[in-house]
Amino acid sequence: MNEADSEIVSSIIERYGYSRTMKPEAADLILVNSCTVRENAEKRAIARLAQYKGYKKDPEVKLGLLGCVPARNKKKLQKEHPFIDIVLGPDSYRKFEEILMQEHYPFRDTDLSKKELYDDILPQRQDELNAWIAIMRGCNQFCSYCIVPYTRGRERSRPFNSIIKAAEEIATKNIPQVTLLGQNVNAYQYEEYSFSDVLKGVAGVQGIRRIRFMSPHPKGFTQKMLKVMRDNDNICNHIHLPLQSGSSKILESMNRTYTKNDYLKLVEQIKKHIPEIALTTDIIVGFPGETDHDFKDTLDVMKKVGFDNAFMFQYSPRPGTYAAKHMEDNIPYKLKNERLQKVIELQHEHTARKNKKLVGQKLEVLVEGTSKKDKNEKIGRTESDKLVIIKAGQGKIGEFAKVKITGTAGVSLFGEIPQ
Ligand code: SAH
Ligand code: SF4
Repeated sequence: MNEADSEIVSSIIERYGYSRTMKPEAADLILVNSCTVRENAEKRAIARLAQYKGYKKDPEVKLGLLGCVPARNKKKLQKEHPFIDIVLGPDSYRKFEEILMQEHYPFRDTDLSKKELYDDILPQRQDELNAWIAIMRGCNQFCSYCIVPYTRGRERSRPFNSIIKAAEEIATKNIPQVTLLGQNVNAYQYEEYSFSDVLKGVAGVQGIRRIRFMSPHPKGFTQKMLKVMRDNDNICNHIHLPLQSGSSKILESMNRTYTKNDYLKLVEQIKKHIPEIALTTDIIVGFPGETDHDFKDTLDVMKKVGFDNAFMFQYSPRPGTYAAKHMEDNIPYKLKNERLQKVIELQHEHTARKNKKLVGQKLEVLVEGTSKKDKNEKIGRTESDKLVIIKAGQGKIGEFAKVKITGTAGVSLFGEIPQ
């Protein structure tokens, strides 16, 4: 969502004569778009600010902090980092007009009551291969560990027609992929339109080759969504379905509103409708009160589902959340770390096993870029969102290539385009 928001900011400030540079030393305006979902992310954003402070030796250079960090603690920031010229929360990016036109510095606005949707602004794209459409913003779920409802405000959904219009505009620009975004994307509801209607509507737009969405909550994952996915070839057979924990007890204290069994049943339904589906997930270890038994439940769900990939985190208390206020962070760091290593190991096994099964298959890959290790090698993504390293000298960025998977190493996939 922050990547999408950064592009919205780019679109807005371009109107005032600014253009993008990736070199901070060349910039008149340096913006750090921050995330506060985990403590590490917040620390990184603050470290970046300190790093860019040096460029302010030139008084013309302005420095701004955007996103969730300021939405959470504007006052503290002001005190500790008085050198920041612009502080804007996620709903305040239209304020750039006032800031840049009236040279209004310092400027601070983190109000979250605007119910901003930015639905008239098409995000500027960096790569030309994927376009984001934030179809809803905010979250009403209040999982007990999560800071998002406090930094992003309440749920609001973008008008259905504006989503279709954005998708059509994207198609006319020959951008092959659209990613529908929302903190709780399947909570989308605008008048009579639900998330499955959005999926179907966007899938019907001529020229969109791949549709992805992020992140759905298991609670609102309906049969109707699965049917639309099954019936539309351009909706990728990949679902990122955050599990968080496999223990029903922990899930309850996380306020996730499903049990271990509910999750497993949903996965069964998904696999029944779309047998070739790739499933990825998010897992938190070391939530307050997590016993060895609870942790084993997480490993058990991982084994039963066999995720293609996972983002795995140690629990970190986030200020203001229910868990931070009312639950003792009582799992020692060492144990959290041990558990994290165990889930990572298990996931690597699963990813490697799934990848090995692909060897010999021909898969459609969207060639997205050049390998960091070898400039002659291109990299691309399968429909299931797996990264493939393509044989040196082959593939053109932006093309859909039929790639034969030739081998794996760890969690990497290698392939070649048969001549
Ligand atoms: N909306 C998505 C998740 C958004 S946050 C959902 O409902 O699942 C992205 C991920 O960060 C979460 O899925 C969770 O795994 C992780 N996360 C959020 N808060 C955390 C915390 N306090 N400690 C550790 N991980 C956290
Ligand atoms: Fe956070 Fe839960 Fe909302 Fe996801 S659904 S953003 S984890 S509160």
